Amino acid sequence: MTGTYSGSCLCGGVRYEYRGDFGQFIYCHCVKCRKAQGTAFGTNAPVDVAGFKLLQGEALLKAYESSPGKQRVFCANCGSPLYSRAADKPGLLRLRMGTLDTPIDFKPQAHNFVASKAEWYDILDGLPQHAERP
Ligand SMILES: [Zn+2]
Ligand SMILES: [Zn+2]
Repeated sequence: MTGTYSGSCLCGGVRYEYRGDFGQFIYCHCVKCRKAQGTAFGTNAPVDVAGFKLLQGEALLKAYESSPGKQRVFCANCGSPLYSRAADKPGLLRLRMGTLDTPIDFKPQAHNFVASKAEWYDILDGLPQHAERP
């Protein structure tokens, strides 16, 4: 999974590059991810902050603290969610995988927070399901 990846927001104002590995790629069905993404779930993976480089658009980044110490960072122009960061895990960003432009050859590995999933969405794959975090 090590490689060089690039990504961007919907308007293209924010562009980033990531060099490194991804942690566990998950579907997150928690209410906050549902609200933040406007969808049934978020698709997030932890990345190493040291390998993450903003190429352009720093002035467009806005952060919303959705829980104490946890900020969800998005493009203030188009609203694309880009990543979250937590004060207690300063070495990591949780990347919103839908913003990647580089194809990847790995897939989500689990469903988290299924206890709060949207009632209109049925999980139809055989991946592990966790009521909250594993
Ligand atoms: Zn944007
Ligand atoms: Zn979540």
